[in-house]
Amino acid sequence: MTWQDDVIAHRRALHQIPELGFEETETHAYLMDALHAMGLDPVVHKTGLWADIESSRPGRTVALRADIDGLPLHEDTGLTFSSTHPGVMHACGHDGHMAILLGTIARLINQRDHWAGRVRVLFQPAEELPPGGAQELIAAGVLDGVDEVLGLHLWSEYPVGTARIAPGPMMANADSFIVRVFGRGGHGSQPENTKDAVLIAAQIVVNLQTIVSRRLGAFEPAVVTCGTIKSGTTFNIIAESAEVTGTVRTFSATTQALIKREIEHIAKTTAHLHEAEAELTYIHGYPVVVNEAASALRWAHALEGTVTLKDDHPSMGGEDFSYYLHHRPGAFLFLGCAPDGEIFPHHSPHFLVNEAALPVGVDVLYKGVRSALGVAQDLQRP
Ligand code: MN
Repeated sequence: MTWQDDVIAHRRALHQIPELGFEETETHAYLMDALHAMGLDPVVHKTGLWADIESSRPGRTVALRADIDGLPLHEDTGLTFSSTHPGVMHACGHDGHMAILLGTIARLINQRDHWAGRVRVLFQPAEELPPGGAQELIAAGVLDGVDEVLGLHLWSEYPVGTARIAPGPMMANADSFIVRVFGRGGHGSQPENTKDAVLIAAQIVVNLQTIVSRRLGAFEPAVVTCGTIKSGTTFNIIAESAEVTGTVRTFSATTQALIKREIEHIAKTTAHLHEAEAELTYIHGYPVVVNEAASALRWAHALEGTVTLKDDHPSMGGEDFSYYLHHRPGAFLFLGCAPDGEIFPHHSPHFLVNEAALPVGVDVLYKGVRSALGVAQDLQRP
């Protein structure tokens, strides 16, 4: 088996045992075995783990992070190595992130004499389950002694052999909200005696769409999405209450605060039109992922000849990698993994990763970590 085959074999094995946030016990056992086999003795926190790889020379310490959780989704890809856990699927590429990091660890150990310093490899639970696993690992000391943090995410919209990394924002503030409507229920034939929560909720959903279109400038990126609307029991009852949930994506704190204020204002005033009430619960989620300029530029420079860098806008997705970057300089990178044929979105039951991207990922992480360690030119042999 070549090292590329090893990486793909790891990915396929992990793809078959997806687990939800903080329930990654089989995944954890697989990773522990793999790290033990490579002579490492990981520190464990819940289902997460990390270990240090020492080179033969003193130097900086750079952390590499992979997330390890799957999603509550029934896989429908038809792959021979599909999920064996009904209702759970690696549909975001985290199986690939683990495989890439395992391949990178093997190379770092192999090439110990060709770099300087220490690399901390960390496998983080529960990225898909806010408040996520990153904050817990940080509280448990995963960044102690670390000078810089790097991470990557497979990205099915970009072709294999391409990547995006840039200074500044990479991913958005990812918040959520609940609007509860309190009306007055009654008989479907006598609306005059009611305050119709279905109608009020429907108007709130429509009116919320004016925030981005009428309250924000055309160059301010933001998303307001209503994901659910729940109300009512049957056709001839006017509903007493309703609940609308949604997500808000922003990059600036000012816009984030404005949207929160506007959602509350619109929900309450729309309800008041009907002499009803509404209340807002706003939940701040993962903050914006902001790459440190020096770290991102250094990594980008190190990738010349390895991948083609794409000039693209930031993603409106969210990631708890942001918390590492609140505590340490570092950078996050999107790695192209578009399949041949139809591209399905991340979090789709049909989501596919092009496995040719996985060895590229090892090259990308290895070059990134060596550049962050400031490896001298005379050590830069392959
Ligand atoms: Mn993800």
